[in-house]
Amino acid sequence: MTGTRPTLVFCAEADTGIRRHGREAYPYECCGALIGRDRLVTEALALPNATAEGPRRRFLVRPADYRAAERRATELGAELLGFYHSHPDHPARPSRYDLDHAWPVFAYVIVSVEGGEPRTLTSWRLREDRSAFDEEPVAVESGSEDGTETRRQGSGQAGGRRSLRASPS
Ligand SMILES: [Zn+2]
Repeated sequence: MTGTRPTLVFCAEADTGIRRHGREAYPYECCGALIGRDRLVTEALALPNATAEGPRRRFLVRPADYRAAERRATELGAELLGFYHSHPDHPARPSRYDLDHAWPVFAYVIVSVEGGEPRTLTSWRLREDRSAFDEEPVAVESGSEDGTETRRQGSGQAGGRRSLRASPS
């Protein structure tokens, strides 16, 4: 392992969508679902940012959100890869609350929004024993897709041919 190779790659529109959502929701947290295939996020699906208690102040994916995200993924012939949320005026690192409410397998993406401007975007995976998150390298696709990338392939194809730029962290 190189340690710098991205394990989660965003289409440019998905990256932009997460940042825009974070800006729009500020000073509250936004949250949404990550939809795509393998390690490529092709769509950031915004989930409702208000509950019965008012605008969300903490990240929480309700069962109804989860079902909506799975439905959307199925519509696209894709998979639910994880979730994102914003940290208004806080670093893009998981909180204790995030740890307590995370599920294994999924990617947890956090974007920090400082004074209304989206900044750092990070991604985290819950350890199997649920004791902590491990950060994973992320990247954003700079070019457009040629359509053949959507075929399912084995591991090890995420890095090579694509043109990548590092996340601005
Ligand atoms: Zn959080």
